[in-house]
Amino acid sequence: MFYEKTNQWEALTQAQSKRLWQLAEDYKNFLNAAKTERLANDQILQMAKKAGYISLEEAVRKRRVRRGDKIYLDQKGKASVLMVLGEDLEEGMDIVGSHIDVPRLDLKPMPLYEEGNMALLKTHYYGGVKKYQWTAIPLALHGVIFTKDGGRVNVSIGEKPEDPVFYINDLLIHLSADQMKKALSEGISAEQLNVVFGHIPEKKQKDQPVKAAVLKLLKEMYGMEEEDFLSAELEIVPAGPARDVGVDRAMICGHGHDDRVSAYASLCALLEIKKPKRTAVCIFADKEEVGSVGNTGMESKYFENMVAEILALNAKGELAVRRSLARSRVISADVTACFDPSFPEVTEKFNVAHAGCGIVMSKYTGVRGKSGSNDANAEFISELRRLFAKNKVVWQSGELGKVDQGGGGTIAYILANSGAEVVDMGVPVLSMHAPFELISKADLYSAYMAYKAFLQ
Ligand code: MN
Ligand code: MN
Repeated sequence: MFYEKTNQWEALTQAQSKRLWQLAEDYKNFLNAAKTERLANDQILQMAKKAGYISLEEAVRKRRVRRGDKIYLDQKGKASVLMVLGEDLEEGMDIVGSHIDVPRLDLKPMPLYEEGNMALLKTHYYGGVKKYQWTAIPLALHGVIFTKDGGRVNVSIGEKPEDPVFYINDLLIHLSADQMKKALSEGISAEQLNVVFGHIPEKKQKDQPVKAAVLKLLKEMYGMEEEDFLSAELEIVPAGPARDVGVDRAMICGHGHDDRVSAYASLCALLEIKKPKRTAVCIFADKEEVGSVGNTGMESKYFENMVAEILALNAKGELAVRRSLARSRVISADVTACFDPSFPEVTEKFNVAHAGCGIVMSKYTGVRGKSGSNDANAEFISELRRLFAKNKVVWQSGELGKVDQGGGGTIAYILANSGAEVVDMGVPVLSMHAPFELISKADLYSAYMAYKAFLQ
């Protein structure tokens, strides 16, 4: 008589259980290799090329596409789209859209300075972070530098066991009387997020000897000068790999589950799609955490342009592009809040998602009365309900939190602009936006199952 959630762990067959544990191992490896949006994009495209995907440019050069063709678009090395062509692209697509950018600390354009016998790096945080969480933990540095002559240098320090790491100081508790009285949001300020980068002074150097020594080292390691920081994108992320959590190893703590768990689950699902009836698509967008702006964010037109390029190969124009987008069905794949037994007061018990009960469908997101949200149509939800029932996908419904407690958005509303049916579906995450976040392996598996059922 009453609706009850299913626990994914209890619903597993033996074969499914095997797939779940393997998927979790592969996902941890992906997370470890994909510490930035550029690295995540590299991983995705590497796996796609191995599975036979060709670039959009190559498809255009060949002047011909047909059902089963696998095409990728690499948007500036920071975002990508994978597509398996169905019978008729104009009839619409089944799209799973996630984002591969993650809250982090970016280095400022001129980051390096010296104080207190230490060389330090100034940062500017990216996305919604609790600043105090970034102090007193081991940190890694990743990114690219373009030197004076235009040469590209890839930087990655802090992930290998033998690597040094970096560090942001917090105040010793002994002298924290004033700091401890501040609001949590002000205990550590943005301009205090300065990264310890070096310490040994250059002998006989009077002016800034530690900074001088660090610059000398950087010259040796990367052939770079201080000015080259101006044409670099360097990111500070927590150092170290994703780890199993719990004596039963059922959960994973890792950097960037939001939203690389959706990216990875949908990627694995798509790579198993061979000759779909409807065109199957995965979008891996950048810049979601800062409002989806810029030419790698979802507000940019790269996906639409890709659809136009492919339709043009069959001599179809603008109207066909619009039809294709309007006839599409979209899962906006992004993580959501999870019931936390230590903070039950921020969620409403009848509508909060629980760890282990599968991927979460959120009819709407938004703040203050659904503002800024894509409110999915009941007709579309009904369609998905039947699809998931048929494919035995374990899923649950969920709201981000109590009404008026806060909120958030995803890329859903952007994809809905063209008229497509869109709904939010993603894994419930604990400690979202913390340097290391927590998910259940069961929910990762459920997400993969849901995306696969949908893309098929
Ligand atoms: Mn997200
Ligand atoms: Mn987020």
